[in-house]
Amino acid sequence: MNQMTNNRRAFMLGLTGLGATVASHAFAEDVSQKPIMTDEMPRFVVPPLAPIKLSADRITRITVCMRPFRAAGPRLEVETVGHKRVVHNYGHGGSGWSLSWGSSTIAARYALEGGKRDIAVIGCGALGLTSALLLRRAGAKVTIYAKERPPQTRSFRATGTWSPDSRIADADKVAPTFPALWEDMARTSYATYQTLLGLPGEPVAWTDRYALSDDAPKPRAIGAIHFAEYEKKQLADITPPFRLLAPGAHPFPVNYVRHGTSMQFNVTELSRLLLEDFLREGGQIETMTFNTPADLARLKQSVIVNCTGYGARALWKDESIIPVRGQIAWLPAQPEARYGVYYRNVVALPRPDGIVVQQAGENDMWGYGIDNETADRAESEAAIATFAGIFDRKASPRP
Ligand SMILES: Cc1cc2nc3c(=O)[nH]c(=O)nc-3n(C[C@H](O)[C@H](O)[C@H](O)COP(=O)(O)OP(=O)(O)OC[C@H]3O[C@@H](n4cnc5c(N)ncnc54)[C@H](O)[C@@H]3O)c2cc1C
Repeated sequence: MNQMTNNRRAFMLGLTGLGATVASHAFAEDVSQKPIMTDEMPRFVVPPLAPIKLSADRITRITVCMRPFRAAGPRLEVETVGHKRVVHNYGHGGSGWSLSWGSSTIAARYALEGGKRDIAVIGCGALGLTSALLLRRAGAKVTIYAKERPPQTRSFRATGTWSPDSRIADADKVAPTFPALWEDMARTSYATYQTLLGLPGEPVAWTDRYALSDDAPKPRAIGAIHFAEYEKKQLADITPPFRLLAPGAHPFPVNYVRHGTSMQFNVTELSRLLLEDFLREGGQIETMTFNTPADLARLKQSVIVNCTGYGARALWKDESIIPVRGQIAWLPAQPEARYGVYYRNVVALPRPDGIVVQQAGENDMWGYGIDNETADRAESEAAIATFAGIFDRKASPRP
């Protein structure tokens, strides 16, 4: 048995344990700058972990999409366009899946306020699907009109983790009421996603996360944009924190490891479930492209929920939407690995449909202002190379 095999075996076996309690926190899309170290967990020892096979020659595809960031936060308001009442529900940055149910609950309420019961939803991503389902379940007749539907939507290219305040707003530019609105959206979504746990195909699941670092963990640095961070404070009662593991209590060859547990979305299965439920419950969907707001006149419905995501920048000429490019390398799924790792700003998250690896950047500025959706293989190879040796070496003691 060579050295590498020996070390891999050591990783699989983990280290002998003292017993286990688990504490955690969201290992968000742009994962672990957010969780701040809390108490050390001297009694928790990581159980044996299957190594994640992270090497560039295992890349099967690379996907890219843009997060629709607005400094003021998502646009969630009513506008009258000609004879149409338009409810905007777009601009959720890196939090669109996480906040979808909460944001769409508000949008659906606005849509039904005038008493009309025949509603059009534009868009079939995270926000369009949840808006349409909620409206249908409230008894409305609902038609989705969209240029793309899953798997072509940008939502389909998301990492798939609970990340409710990832690039959701600029903390210095939001209205004073926004933190409370955010909390309302986040709590509604968090509760709703928990009704989707334990289903076949695991559209939603809890998974462990390990945030590794060579140096003592420190709060996230603020970059050129002061991205808002609300979760740790405002959801502290329902989202378990990350905790620092004791030296020797984990198999990773780094000085500091924080452990957490967070919600994960299998976006493939989640999208399928939402779309199928919508259609099975009587919803309709039509492929349609709108080039200007005047095109809305083509719709017979007088109430329209606008869930066009990044597409709203062109359609609505909303230049307050800033693209934040994100790229994911996909590796073959490893059902035996049910935990995510974060190291030197790179995330690796095993999902049932593949392992996603993503450069997250130091202060969430990675990809900011870049609207290029062409894959950059070198970026993905560099991201994967960050983990070289992480699954092959024995744990080293903290100095
Ligand atoms: C790399 C990456 C990773 C991410 N990871 C996560 C994560 O882990 N967790 C999380 O919560 N969020 C994550 N996000 C953010 C999340 O993906 C977005 O916030 C979310 O997808 C936005 O959803 P949406 O429905 O508003 O937009 P979209 O998914 O873009 O959907 C827009 C819909 O509108 C339609 N449309 C647009 N323009 C027009 C038009 N002119 N005419 C007709 N139809 C139109 C589109 O065809 C589509 O159907 C990530 C984003 C990126 C880029």
